[in-house]
Amino acid sequence: MQEKTKVTFFGTEAAVPELGGETASFLINDEVMVDTGWNIVDNLRRQGIDPGSIRYLLFTHMHHDHYISLPSLLYYFLITNKDLSGLKILGPKEDLQPIMHHTLEFLFLNRKFYPDRNYPTIIPLSPGEAHEDDRFLLETTSSLHPVQALCYKYTDKQTGKTVTFTGDTAYHEPIIDLARGSSLLIHEATYGAIPANPQKNGGLHSSAMDAAEIAKAANVEQLALIHGLRHNNEASVKAAEAIYSGPVMWPAKDQTILL
Ligand SMILES: [Zn+2]
Ligand SMILES: [Zn+2]
Repeated sequence: MQEKTKVTFFGTEAAVPELGGETASFLINDEVMVDTGWNIVDNLRRQGIDPGSIRYLLFTHMHHDHYISLPSLLYYFLITNKDLSGLKILGPKEDLQPIMHHTLEFLFLNRKFYPDRNYPTIIPLSPGEAHEDDRFLLETTSSLHPVQALCYKYTDKQTGKTVTFTGDTAYHEPIIDLARGSSLLIHEATYGAIPANPQKNGGLHSSAMDAAEIAKAANVEQLALIHGLRHNNEASVKAAEAIYSGPVMWPAKDQTILL
């Protein structure tokens, strides 16, 4: 039986990563992938994980930096004869179905080339909806972002640990309720130590201080900041530590956290 809940960060950068870097994407318990980053297949193989063994792919939202390597993961399943029907793909209802439809039917996979193959199970979620598996419970709430986006709370049924993660969002109070008491909060901090200012930096993202305010109000056990520019990481952690008294980190590429 698995004793710890495991979170492996493949990347923590925003939009276009620096050379050798990766956008925000991570893996829970070697089977639940959150967003794809630019290089999901290589990232999984580097950890010794067969990409065809992934059981769940969760999308926080359907901005391109969060799903850009989806076609390579699906193609990996097809070309290695893995059963795609074992893969469940969850994401925000408004955008998940149209994007999956285009990815599978036309724009990339050209379904007619693979007439006899199964396809993944698509599970669209609206904010507030949940999904339960024999190994975990997933609860959701909304984000504050220009497109429909979900924040998730993953409860590990084997360890009882909870991981709440935001995807992209501006400061958004409903996240406090979702994250309350979590073992780990993974919160975006695109603006780093610079306060969010809709007139100036726009885009509906968070600063490290916004993330820290959520962590403090939700009384989480630790905070991981993601989705930012690499050179801001240290200043972001410092700015968050000034507000939230628990441990704060900006995970390194391929860093694993055990809870
Ligand atoms: Zn993003
Ligand atoms: Zn976004």
